[in-house]
Amino acid sequence: MNGHFASVGDGPSKEQYEHGIQVVDEEKAFNPSLNTYLQLTKTAQSGFNYHLISVFGSQSTGKSTLLNHLFGTQFGVMSESERRQTTKGIWMSKNKREDRVGAGAEKMAENILVMDVEGTDGRERGEDQDFERKSALFALATSEVLIVNLWEHQVGLYQGANMGLLKTVFEVNLQLFLKDKQSNPRSLLFFVIRDHIGATPLANLRNTLLADLTNIWSGLSKPAGLEKSRIEDYFDFAFAALPHKILQPEKFVTEVERLGTRFRAGHRASKQHGLHVDHELEGGVFLPEYHRRIPADGFSVYAEGIWDQIVNNKDLDLPTQQELLAQFRCDEISREVLEAFDAAISPLEEKQAEGVRLGKPAVLKDLGVSGKAARVKGIKAFEVEASRYHKGVYARKRVELEGKIDTRLKALYQGQLAAAHKSGVASFSDAVAGAVKAGQKKGASYEFADIVEREKGVALKQFETEAKSLAIEGIAWSNFKQQYNLYEKDLDEVSARLRKEEMRRLATRVERWVRSRLGESVGLEFNKLGSGRGGSGAPEEGVKPATEKDLWDRIWNLFMSTVKEAETRFVERAKSFDASQDEIDVGLWRLRRKSWGVLKAKVDEEVMEGNILLKLRENFEDKFRYDEAGVPRIWRPTDDIEGVYTKAKESTLTLIPLLARFRLAETYAPPDLPEWVGNAPASVDPKDEEDLAPIGGVDEEEGKSLEEEMTILSEAKRQDLVVRFKKTADGVYVEAKRSAIGGVAQ
Ligand code: GDP
Ligand code: MG
Repeated sequence: MNGHFASVGDGPSKEQYEHGIQVVDEEKAFNPSLNTYLQLTKTAQSGFNYHLISVFGSQSTGKSTLLNHLFGTQFGVMSESERRQTTKGIWMSKNKREDRVGAGAEKMAENILVMDVEGTDGRERGEDQDFERKSALFALATSEVLIVNLWEHQVGLYQGANMGLLKTVFEVNLQLFLKDKQSNPRSLLFFVIRDHIGATPLANLRNTLLADLTNIWSGLSKPAGLEKSRIEDYFDFAFAALPHKILQPEKFVTEVERLGTRFRAGHRASKQHGLHVDHELEGGVFLPEYHRRIPADGFSVYAEGIWDQIVNNKDLDLPTQQELLAQFRCDEISREVLEAFDAAISPLEEKQAEGVRLGKPAVLKDLGVSGKAARVKGIKAFEVEASRYHKGVYARKRVELEGKIDTRLKALYQGQLAAAHKSGVASFSDAVAGAVKAGQKKGASYEFADIVEREKGVALKQFETEAKSLAIEGIAWSNFKQQYNLYEKDLDEVSARLRKEEMRRLATRVERWVRSRLGESVGLEFNKLGSGRGGSGAPEEGVKPATEKDLWDRIWNLFMSTVKEAETRFVERAKSFDASQDEIDVGLWRLRRKSWGVLKAKVDEEVMEGNILLKLRENFEDKFRYDEAGVPRIWRPTDDIEGVYTKAKESTLTLIPLLARFRLAETYAPPDLPEWVGNAPASVDPKDEEDLAPIGGVDEEEGKSLEEEMTILSEAKRQDLVVRFKKTADGVYVEAKRSAIGGVAQ
């Protein structure tokens, strides 16, 4: 609908707006480029530091001429010769004489916007009072000062066209501010009397005008509730007179200059509002209470909204308009803020996402600092711009914005802590493993529990530092307590796993010790078999040497005491790294099983064919070649070689069934291995124990009995061993026989 205003050429330029901007055209269309104009003239950024003046008056009373002189504007003026209306609709221009300095060396106010409103005597618009009313409404809704321009000779003409205009102004004012009781803005009506001849002093003219105004006001039909309202409840008045521009051109210029300096900030000298306010204004005419409090960057939107309501003859509800404006602008500002925030945060989000993609979550450096900076910057920027708007709307939109910012930050921060979590757990695990390795290398006994405690402290501190750097004061989600607890829980899980590994290493060391201990001591016991008489003294005739009969008792005792010692070592060490009783129980159970395996392997090694045959031969030879006193026999042909041979052979042969079964002498039964190993502790996880070999009689489901477990030589092996041994013994016998005969021959 505003195609009329579509800009031609290459975008907006200052030249294009030399004559200001036509805010509303003669077709009553609003110019969508108003904000462009405010931007170009650098008014849009001024917040509340701007002023709006509208000029009213009959056609061709020199309004545009006055504004051009006062504000250096270039509004169109009627040429002397043509005498027809030039100003159409509503024009706006920014004051170009800000540098004007008055007598008191006082400058004009900054950012004065002037609206030149189409003349109102209706001469050229016929009887169309409609536009007059609409433009008056528009001016009142926006302007602080309304200049009423009139000829001196119009003063006192109560029925004159301009009095009709004032009546309109008063009426629409009541209509407008009826609904807006809380802000109830005042306006200054600034009468400028033109072609003042000087015969009647300004004071008299003022009195006449005030009397007329009071008359008009009392004749007004006021809306319900405002019947008793007085004109001074809404308006202040100021007056100025200017000499004839054509007859007194120089004086006209100096007086206009003087008038110009009144357009600056002022204040009220007395607290009383009254009709003679002119005397009571100190400084300039712009009192703060006149300002409509529409931020400059929202002015175009507000003005367009207002005009839209006016044109469509809707009830103008300024508070609602201000709320709508606030919503619109707060959303706009919020968008801009979020764009800047996005630009700051997106690269960080991408970096984080890439880390996750590559499976190497990155802990971003100084994220807390940059995140906080982006957050504060955004919220601050919003606050500066948006807080000028409707307080309730602003507060709501601020919460919305903070929510959006915090949602982004929260996700980013949680990603950061997830990365810190992952890398923290990894370095904790590495650090503990490294310290253990270093401890092992030095051979020194290292305290596993101390290492874990120290490294856990380091890991927790690191995470805490990161989490603290992300914390935002007063924002509950940013304390990250839950993440911290989860992290600590994970560290404890890793510790438990590392301790388990450490327990395994300890178990391996203890097993090795058991193996070497049993290797020596069990080997020694088997070696004793080689000597047929055992260690202590000479045995009685026909009685098996004690060393042979209780071989298994000694091995079993040896085994038990060795394992007992190993258990003590294991428990001591495991306790030093805070292993639980459960973990210790499992370790001991494993140790006993493994130790049994070690013993079994050692015994198997000892009874391997070659080894055991050699032992039997030695045992036999010892009995055969030495007499009871341990003296070597020299065989003579008369000796009962055969008898000695048979006795020694039989004696050695008894060893084979003895060796074949692990049996204790006293009970003639295998040791109670199941009792000794004990039941598997409840916490044993079968998956972890796959390295354990089954034990007959202990692991019943294996289907192997204890008897089988305790069988050292199978029946076949025993028979084979008997045959081989006999052959060996026979060989020794034959050799002895030969040597006896040989001895005779000598
Ligand atoms: P507007 O329609 O109220 O904006 O009036 P203009 O500024 O276009 O002026 C209308 C006519 O009045 C022009 O021909 C001006 O030269 C003339 N004019 C401007 N100022 C004065 C003045 O102070 N006194 C007289 N007598 N004529 C003036
Ligand atoms: Mg004009």
